[in-house]
Amino acid sequence: MSMITDSTRVRTEFWHRVLSAFTLEKPIFEAEFLLGARPQPLVRQGIFVPDTPDRKAQCPICNEYTPVEVVKDADGQDIYRLACCYPFKRINPKRLRVWRVCEGPLIDRFVKTAGIKGPRKEIIPQRAWRLGRHGQQVFLYLNRVTMDDLKTFGPVLSRFPNAVFVVPTNVIQSRLEITLSNRCLVLAEVSSLDSDYRIVFDTPRIETFIEPEAREKPKSVVRRGNRSVNIEKLVHELRQHLLAARDHYWETGNLLPKPKMEDLGRMVGIEKYAVSRCIRDPDADKLRFLWQHADDIDFIRDWKG
Ligand SMILES: [Zn+2]
Repeated sequence: MSMITDSTRVRTEFWHRVLSAFTLEKPIFEAEFLLGARPQPLVRQGIFVPDTPDRKAQCPICNEYTPVEVVKDADGQDIYRLACCYPFKRINPKRLRVWRVCEGPLIDRFVKTAGIKGPRKEIIPQRAWRLGRHGQQVFLYLNRVTMDDLKTFGPVLSRFPNAVFVVPTNVIQSRLEITLSNRCLVLAEVSSLDSDYRIVFDTPRIETFIEPEAREKPKSVVRRGNRSVNIEKLVHELRQHLLAARDHYWETGNLLPKPKMEDLGRMVGIEKYAVSRCIRDPDADKLRFLWQHADDIDFIRDWKG
């Protein structure tokens, strides 16, 4: 096996260990799991924050986790040793290093790469965050979710039936899959470390989680005389408004203001009077229905898209 392949494997295994550490209640990464990888680049990227070791190590003889004691040798130098199973085993203090792992910088990078916009909001404390949306596609980040959590918070999550759930590892994915049918984007499957230990994303794979019609189109104002085409476009814009209003309602308890005809017109590239004509069109039942309910709290709350 070549050196390159070998170090790729080391980085891959290390990165998966790091992502698994995110899922711990107390996200601490211990030096013994470095597996030959370098911790410093992750410190620079804000993923690792050096933390105080608990000064325990596993005794190679009896396998117990025992406190490490510091004594002076004949030259007055510190010696770290395990006061267990005589003769006491010396410990390299580097082995005792630990880091707190921080998922924030990773999520920031992911959000930027995926083109997700919108304010980030914690919707379940320490468990679920709304990251924002790319076009119509809403993204939630979920972590440390247990089966008990799902019983408690399932109803909150079911308010986002079309959201993509971003999770660190497939362990979290498999728990979510038991009760929820949302698509899961597993960070372990779309991210890796390059040879400089920089986090890189598999962008084409991330794009498969964004519905083609939800991808942002360049804004173009196309004037078309055909009223039925404009009616269709207005239906689409109102649906988008209703989705946004529903999410906003469940997050804040407030209702978004009903869009003005003028604004709807601007979105589809027609004048306000043309919007009004479309809404009154005898063949525009659906458009009229959506327009009438665009500020109806009961209708919006249960809007399924
Ligand atoms: Zn021992």
